[in-house]
Amino acid sequence: PLEPWYIGGPVIKGFGRGSKVLGIPTANLSPEGYSAILSEHPAGVYFGWAGLSGRGVYKMVMSIGWNPFFNNTEKTIEPWLLHDFNEDFYGEELHLVVVGYIRPEANFSSLEALIAKIHEDRKIAERALELAQYLKYKDDPYLKSSL
Ligand code: ADP
Ligand code: MG
Repeated sequence: PLEPWYIGGPVIKGFGRGSKVLGIPTANLSPEGYSAILSEHPAGVYFGWAGLSGRGVYKMVMSIGWNPFFNNTEKTIEPWLLHDFNEDFYGEELHLVVVGYIRPEANFSSLEALIAKIHEDRKIAERALELAQYLKYKDDPYLKSSL
């Protein structure tokens, strides 16, 4: 298993590509300050734990991907928190412990295929995070350091 890695900061606005309409909102974090950590990890789908300031700790499945609108040296960080929130939490402090890797970034022939794959990823993440080797990180102090 890979060493867990740690990313945090305020939740920023993404491109608003309608992910909420698709039922897959992603709480974007700025890659600023994380270029070393990001260059060590390939673009793709990861899972781990998310600590949201003042709220709690949740399972998350996350896309790390190239941002074609920037200079291709920065990746976007987009975790989907596996919890139903009743409101947005832009600007709130979010800390992530990334514990596992699912798959590389991929292209899809249709939006439906993409959505189906993301739901597969979610199921993989939800199950994996129940395993002792990943569950133990739910108590990582980094997740609560901002709660
Ligand atoms: P954006 O392009 O601005 O990131 P999204 O459509 O991806 O917009 O929605 C993400 C926003 O939705 C988050 O910043 C957060 O405020 C809110 N949100 C609500 N529920 C969730 C969730 N379960 N996981 C991630 N973000 C969520
Ligand atoms: Mg987003």
